[in-house]
Amino acid sequence: MTATRLHLLTERLSSLFRAEVRHIASEHGLKLVQLEALVFLSMANRYSDTPASLTEYFGLTKGTVSQTLKVLERDGLIEKRPDDSDGRVQHCGVTKRGQEIAAEAFPAPLFTDVPAREDAALTRALEQLLRRLQQRNALRSFGQCRGCRLFEARGTGGRCGLTHELLSKLDTQKICREHEEAP
Ligand code: SF4
Repeated sequence: MTATRLHLLTERLSSLFRAEVRHIASEHGLKLVQLEALVFLSMANRYSDTPASLTEYFGLTKGTVSQTLKVLERDGLIEKRPDDSDGRVQHCGVTKRGQEIAAEAFPAPLFTDVPAREDAALTRALEQLLRRLQQRNALRSFGQCRGCRLFEARGTGGRCGLTHELLSKLDTQKICREHEEAP
């Protein structure tokens, strides 16, 4: 695929996707960036539910992330708590109400009726493209445990080779800032 074609396709898909998520956000009195942050936090594991992760994931400024989190906290959609071992780090847990709103936007209704066969082929191609672009630009992959070279599978969950902590099945399905692509 040529760079021009790829550019046009991703631009159109991105516009469609963002228009839909923006609409869901406005129904809850939120801006697009606020709902996107809420969705990210609802999917992030315990090493990644922080302002620093949000800044990296979306490429936002610290000021924008700070303002975004203030609104989410004011509206009762997240709750901040200091890290047990480093009080300078704040974790942003999503409340029940926040989870409900995030679930309306993830996955975006736009994608839910893509046929399963197309879905698998598309997912593989998009993952490959994303990983290639992330590697070329030295960006974090923000993947899940099953695709991480540090993951040690144990039963339905596992153990993180970086932090040496046990991970539940749910932990392994969340996205992680420390993820390192398995070879
Ligand atoms: S195994 Fe990898 S993806 Fe999972 S928590 Fe550890 S660093 Fe993160």
